[in-house]
Amino acid sequence: MTPGGQFSQEVRDQVFWREEGACVLCGSGQSPNWQHRKARGSGGTRKVMTAANGLLLCHLCHMAVEASPADARVLGYRVDQYADPAVVPVWRARFGSWALLTVGGLAVFAEWPDEGVVCTEVEARTVAERLTNRAGTARFVP
Ligand SMILES: [Zn+2]
Repeated sequence: MTPGGQFSQEVRDQVFWREEGACVLCGSGQSPNWQHRKARGSGGTRKVMTAANGLLLCHLCHMAVEASPADARVLGYRVDQYADPAVVPVWRARFGSWALLTVGGLAVFAEWPDEGVVCTEVEARTVAERLTNRAGTARFVP
């Protein structure tokens, strides 16, 4: 299965430019993968196909995220089947901040706890560190 194989080229480009071509978790520009925050095949096809549902991860971080659903959920890298990805904040580890991802390909700064962020920055950093350690990409973290 090709990661992100069902995103259109336009959406892939939006996600790529939003993240400046770097993995949202470790900052690496190598082997970009397009992660679906909401699993393909779950409800709301239109929402699944937009930039709000897409994350740019390097191949190694993508594998770690896929293998760690609980951690992925805490950071907003995985969202519930019935959730709208545009209203679930994402921890952008390489910027050290939460953001809401828009359908049109923007990232809007989100502040805990006002916008539904599920944990504090300290907790998010801990979870992100655990994921990059698992992926072996911690050495790339800016
Ligand atoms: Zn990475």
